[in-house]
Amino acid sequence: MQVCRTISNIRAAVAAFRAAGETVGLVTTMGALHSGHMALVAAAKAAQTRVVATIFVNPTQFGNAEDLANYPRTEDADLEMLRDAGVDAVLIPDAAEIYPRDNETIVETTRLANVLHGLVRPGHYRGVTTVVSKLFNITQPDAAYFGEKDYQQLQVIKRMARDLQMPVAVHGVPTVRESDGLAMSSRNARLTENDRRAAVVLSRALDKAENEAGRRVPIDRIDQALRTTINAEPRARLRAVDIVDPATFAPAVGLMKGPIAIMLSVEFGPNDNPVMLIDQREITP
Ligand code: AMP
Repeated sequence: MQVCRTISNIRAAVAAFRAAGETVGLVTTMGALHSGHMALVAAAKAAQTRVVATIFVNPTQFGNAEDLANYPRTEDADLEMLRDAGVDAVLIPDAAEIYPRDNETIVETTRLANVLHGLVRPGHYRGVTTVVSKLFNITQPDAAYFGEKDYQQLQVIKRMARDLQMPVAVHGVPTVRESDGLAMSSRNARLTENDRRAAVVLSRALDKAENEAGRRVPIDRIDQALRTTINAEPRARLRAVDIVDPATFAPAVGLMKGPIAIMLSVEFGPNDNPVMLIDQREITP
């Protein structure tokens, strides 16, 4: 596995793959890797002959300097996991490599970035689309793989690639979970033991919602099932429940007529330094 710290090194690695007639799959991460990230690598490996990964804790997608500073960094273990998974090249750039001085260009999906979870984290998706467009331009992959756990992020990136005619196929990969149902996330490492146990409430609430759901069931009933379940867990602070039409991201209202997507944002830990966890589920009646 080639470990590249500069844009010119990764460009040279990818150019050599292309010259040999290989196809390139990209997996972008912020490190602190776990089995969820490895599922993206496996999907890329199954469909492409070469896999490129990136590890970059992107400052522009953090609203809060403390959250950025607290983000776990486990570079040696990450490189070992990527190597074991058969990744061909990895880019680990400095922030200055990605955001040169006087960087002023941003990429934003103007509507999708500013609804739902985007309202809870202003500027977050703009940071994501800006960095992902840079990483697409740097690595020029045929396809890129993103987790369905970050459901709005996946839709935002698909829309960006489509709107800007980027020659990259964007694929979603199902969420990998711990044995109790908690979606794997690098942030889980920041939970106290008690909060870690309580965090199962996200997937439990989604199970309850799925049990309630069905054709012509009031969306309000599904919404109530989610809120009641989360609010019954004293360690959890519900930040957002969104139930939308997965095709348009418009709020689902009235009776359930077709597929819905549910997105949850729930905080744990101290108010001044919380750990925000998200989870999602698509339900077809
Ligand atoms: P992150 O390092 O958290 O920015 O995530 C990098 C990529 O891994 C994103 O596309 C995430 O959606 C994806 N990812 C994170 N956790 C999981 C998971 N539990 N299952 C599948 N994909 C995941």
